[in-house]
Amino acid sequence: MRFAHETLPQRVVFAPHEAARAIGDEVARLGAARIMVVAAPSSAPLTDALTDGLPVAHVHDEVVMHVPVEVAERAREAAEKCSADALVSIGGGSATGLAKAVALTTGLPIVAVPTTYAGSEATNVWGLTRGTTKTTGVDARVLPRAVVYDASLMLTLPAELAVASGLNALAHGIDAMWGPRADAIDRVLAGEAIRGLGQGLPEVKADLGRLEGAEQTLYGAYLAAVAFASAGSGLHHKICHVLGGMFDLPHAQTHAVVLPHVLALNAANAPEAERRIAEAFGSPSAIEGLAALRARVDAPSALKDYGMPEDGIAEAVEPILAAAPANNPTPVTPDNLTALLRAAWEGDVPR
Ligand code: NAD
Repeated sequence: MRFAHETLPQRVVFAPHEAARAIGDEVARLGAARIMVVAAPSSAPLTDALTDGLPVAHVHDEVVMHVPVEVAERAREAAEKCSADALVSIGGGSATGLAKAVALTTGLPIVAVPTTYAGSEATNVWGLTRGTTKTTGVDARVLPRAVVYDASLMLTLPAELAVASGLNALAHGIDAMWGPRADAIDRVLAGEAIRGLGQGLPEVKADLGRLEGAEQTLYGAYLAAVAFASAGSGLHHKICHVLGGMFDLPHAQTHAVVLPHVLALNAANAPEAERRIAEAFGSPSAIEGLAALRARVDAPSALKDYGMPEDGIAEAVEPILAAAPANNPTPVTPDNLTALLRAAWEGDVPR
């Protein structure tokens, strides 16, 4: 056992039904006197309720998925204009991502309040898009200083998005089993993440308004993101990153569709990961465990349903091969990658 593991410094507060109080506490801990809130217009009523009584200098609501560079620039200007000394992001990965873009150049601390299971709040990874090319990077300044998890904020997610977002979180956990820097600590965290998500997501699907399912799912999503941030992007994330950028596919749904195919490719050559994933699902094998979960939550299954053109399969092979981690358990070849993409495009069930 030989590895160097870095634990990211961050306060994590789980406070069901108490986000407003917890955000106030975290803002006070930072000693912030002029906060800029980053939240989409659709969450305006929630944002008002959660920030009532806080020293809000400005609410910035131009939130766009994958953070176009112009959008990031306008948010940075807004932060400077209102002399913000802290950022509070309220929303999914897109709102968190915009706050990170501001923190990247200004160093302002972030209090992140997630409303999806995307997990960006627990990573030091930023993403910016210029035209159709998304660039990601790692920087300590973008890691939120504090995260406030209030599972009751998840209860407004529509079923399709709750499931896709939860499976996006599951992809963090599964990819962390064999990411380029995956170590023994990541695998333990990822195993517990998969267990929590495997238990919570069917409960969310069965009753969207029940807090307990959302809590388990959120707990799993957090752990999965922590494991992923440490292990680094594995093959699954490289594939989704390329496909999302090339064909403008929805983030969470793309992850949900591709995941079983990457697991099917890697499982036979990653016995320890396979065993841990199977155990976490309480299933005889990892592939069966994921298939059973996907059936229970009615998971999205075909990339063609989300706008990927059929000739995109051939187009995507080369850029994915160029990005695939060299230490992926199963060596990636043009043939097995083409077969994987075709199956994900068609919606074939991996065996
Ligand atoms: P999102 O933030 O774009 O949200 C998707 C939709 O859900 C939006 O329309 C939003 O308004 C709505 N929504 C959010 N919360 C809701 C709620 N509680 N109730 C009802 N509707 C709600 O999507 P996402 O999947 O959360 O995030 C995707 C983005 O995050 C991508 O850009 C992705 O690259 C990024 N991401 C980054 C990291 C990282 O580590 N840097 C990790 C995961 C995701």
